[in-house]
Amino acid sequence: MVMSKLNSMNAFVEKARDVLSSDPGRRYVLARTNIRDFKLLNHVFGFQKGNEILKCIEGILNKNSDAFEVYGQLHIDQFVFLMTKEKFSTSLFRQMASECSGLIESPCFRIHIQMGVYEIVDSNMEILSMCDRAYLAIKSIKIDEPLAVAWYSDSIMERCLYSKKIISEFDYALQSKRFLMYLQPQANTKGEIMSAEALARWLMEDGTILSPSHFISILEDSDLIWKLDLYMWEEAAKLLSKWKHDGDKKNLSISVNISPKDLYYLDIEKELVDLVRKYDISPDKMNVEITESSFVNNSDLYVDLIAKLHKAGFAIEIDDFGSGYSSLNLLKNIHADILKLDMAFLQKGEDLIRSEIIIDSVIEMAKRLDMQVISEGVETQEQAVFLKSNGCDFFQGFYFSRPVAVDKFDTVLKAYNLERTNAHHKRPKSLRDLVKEAV
Ligand code: C2E
Ligand code: MG
Ligand code: MG
Repeated sequence: MVMSKLNSMNAFVEKARDVLSSDPGRRYVLARTNIRDFKLLNHVFGFQKGNEILKCIEGILNKNSDAFEVYGQLHIDQFVFLMTKEKFSTSLFRQMASECSGLIESPCFRIHIQMGVYEIVDSNMEILSMCDRAYLAIKSIKIDEPLAVAWYSDSIMERCLYSKKIISEFDYALQSKRFLMYLQPQANTKGEIMSAEALARWLMEDGTILSPSHFISILEDSDLIWKLDLYMWEEAAKLLSKWKHDGDKKNLSISVNISPKDLYYLDIEKELVDLVRKYDISPDKMNVEITESSFVNNSDLYVDLIAKLHKAGFAIEIDDFGSGYSSLNLLKNIHADILKLDMAFLQKGEDLIRSEIIIDSVIEMAKRLDMQVISEGVETQEQAVFLKSNGCDFFQGFYFSRPVAVDKFDTVLKAYNLERTNAHHKRPKSLRDLVKEAV
């Protein structure tokens, strides 16, 4: 029987310190592993199965103990290793993931081992700080492989600090109304603005305006996004209620975004219905954008949600259609009203003819499935003309207008309407009028 050399956390820290002090010139790495969803595994398969897996890992480590200078258990399902850089290899850990997966009989559950590696630059650094760095590397892992490995780098630390800042400032920013609703106009084939998408912006203390790419994914990862979404939906509802009495705007609708995580935190249908009641607006003025990636793991829940939203009178848009892997498949079950083509469709591929055939066919398919089509990311007249000639119903993109603050939206709308009126009086034509006439 192999004697276990698996150290407790304290013993690991002490022994690792000794190794590093005895040969400081050598290159070492500190690696740390985590079994993803280990709690869930215990819950689904029972603690006995969880223990069996931990024993299996311990057995593999003990059998291969020569690979490590020291190794230990930091926490129940988290192991830590000090190795020389030349001995570091992922094959043993790959084998570990596959042997552990073999202990689970269900085809739906695979063991995922996540590994963070810190290459030791300063051997005097606290061992626990090295463990923290390996942990940050683990947190940066986004892929779903049986063994996923990430190396620590200073940029990972910077990103973590940035995320911490966003998370810690978020609640206060929300309370003090530092989030702004920007609107991006959506035009029909006649060049008329029919609606707008509500997009969040964060007005920082120093006056800079942060765009969503700097905070949405952080808020999603930290399960805070539902708070921002609720706020944005309410801002949209409030604005629609103001527009009700405005001749120019009473027919406009606003599309709001739903994050995939909202489903876990909110009764989305109840929240939206409560809002349209509170602000006395018609639900058909508030379109609901659900991004394509939401459907991947929860298609049944969304079928249910969409049915309820339809019943309540909301129109549903599938956002970013074509950006994921299962775009076509999801259309079998999801009955949406509007398909929103992802911008990637408009980016010029190597083979223009092929890109065009794909767009043309997707639009035709949407029509046959009784959906209207909007294209986002329309940047040029050429794109607008092409989309229009292929049956696209609505257009959104910088060619028409960038997202703008609510007061600026009024100016855009007025300028737009004026331009259209003037076009009738044979004033010089704008690019947008050319779109109208080109087909
Ligand atoms: P989205 O919902 O797909 O919104 C469209 C994004 O495309 C917007 O980016 C818009 O500014 C950008 N865009 C529009 N036209 C063009 C164009 O012609 N060219 C290019 N290159 N880009 C264009 P933005 O405002 O930065 O928002 C990014 C994403 O952040 C949104 O993508 C949406 O997924 C998310 N987001 C924004 N606001 C919210 C929100 O309140 N809640 C949630 N859950 N997500 C939001
Ligand atoms: Mg959207
Ligand atoms: Mg989109």
